Amino acid sequence: TGVAGINLIVKAADFAARRHRTQKRKDHAQTPYINHPVGVAYILTSIGRVTDPVVLAAAYLHDTVEDTKTTIEEIEMEFGKEVRKIVEEVTDDKSLPKATRKALQVEKAPHKSPQAKLVKLADKLYNLRDLERSTPHGWDKKRVKEYFKWSRDVVAGCKGTNDALEAALDDIINRNL
Ligand code: NDP
Ligand code: ZN
Repeated sequence: TGVAGINLIVKAADFAARRHRTQKRKDHAQTPYINHPVGVAYILTSIGRVTDPVVLAAAYLHDTVEDTKTTIEEIEMEFGKEVRKIVEEVTDDKSLPKATRKALQVEKAPHKSPQAKLVKLADKLYNLRDLERSTPHGWDKKRVKEYFKWSRDVVAGCKGTNDALEAALDDIINRNL
């Protein structure tokens, strides 16, 4: 029912806010980290016209396993198997070196589910907008450019999923490369 979907989304927003509560973004303003998952969910509804509660809940939760002590089992227990699958698909293996993880994102993107591709597209769009708005602490122009190039390669592997998100990504990437 619609009520169950709304409840799932609101529960995910609350869970993410609590898990990310002490974290900040890498910008100079030290924006609270939770602004990012909230913004990713809003990009999905406002630009992507996504209404699937499972995808919107996964958007709120997408960095909880990668960046907090939250486990994937806990996500399944609280939010079910479908949300777990999407969060798992967008979570990097933090035991691998950073360069390997970045290469794997490019390699694996084309094989992900359409739901995981939606979250990845919105996540990249949010981060690229953040980079365009202000350069993170300690980053030079070359590093920002490298991030845009890598994002272009990940996004290429997620194409054929959502025209509006892909067009917005093409625009920001072309403006910055
Ligand atoms: P990182 O992966 O270290 O940082 C980018 C990530 O930080 C984003 O994907 C996003 O992830 C999160 N994030 C938090 N705040 C912001 C913000 N304000 N704007 C954008 N993203 C934000 O970046 P790199 O890809 O550059 O790093 C790769 C590796 O290379 C690292 O080990 C780095 O130390 C190293 N390195 C690279 C250099 C280069 O020139 N490329 C130079 C020096 C070092 P999320 O969605 O999960 O929040
Ligand atoms: Zn993210």
